Amino acid sequence: MEALRERIVREGRGIGGGVLKVDSFLNHQIDVAFVEEMGQALADRFKGACVTKILTVESSGIPIACAAAKALGYLPVVFAKKAAPNTMIEGVYSTDVKSFTKETVSTIRVSRQFLGSEDRVLIIDDFLAYGESAMGLVRLAKNAGAHVCGIGVAVEKKFQGGGDRLREAGYSVESLAVIRSISDDNIEFEDVLVTKEGEKE
Ligand code: 5GP
Repeated sequence: MEALRERIVREGRGIGGGVLKVDSFLNHQIDVAFVEEMGQALADRFKGACVTKILTVESSGIPIACAAAKALGYLPVVFAKKAAPNTMIEGVYSTDVKSFTKETVSTIRVSRQFLGSEDRVLIIDDFLAYGESAMGLVRLAKNAGAHVCGIGVAVEKKFQGGGDRLREAGYSVESLAVIRSISDDNIEFEDVLVTKEGEKE
């Protein structure tokens, strides 16, 4: 998605350790119109997959998951929770996930009420790095007996290998922007060169 690549070049910043900060439109301040465009672009890639439910993880996956859900006909969105609120009194599916940005392990959980064997699940997230979050969501869906139709993300950081690992495991993975490398002063994308003035072949 050209507009996303351009936005990353203009507003994104590599903050070391392979982390990209895009707080101006996705991770802190949210550009709702742009997130809707990204949701539509992801929905277009999965429109033939008969998806019945979107699954994501709190918190930064939620806006783009909602946008994709709207574009697929207002599907329900379930987000896995990282804390166990005392309102979660029904049974839960849970699994441990290593956080890439926080360098911690957290348990993510979904109420059994909202995920079941009748569901065809599309997993949506903002970033795909090592694939820990996506694999955790796959495990939750499988524990519930649901079918995983695919995984859609805004930004895939190819150099961290999660996307390829998921593809090798047989999942359909779609990314709106694929980053090859991040350095202090340059963000390189797969197959396209993007400068601050615009995109080049
Ligand atoms: P993974 O589990 O694939 O290693 O990492 C994906 C999760 O970590 C995403 O849910 C996202 O929230 C976070 N994440 C990974 N890399 C980045 C990054 O470069 N920037 C930001 N803002 N979040 C990231």
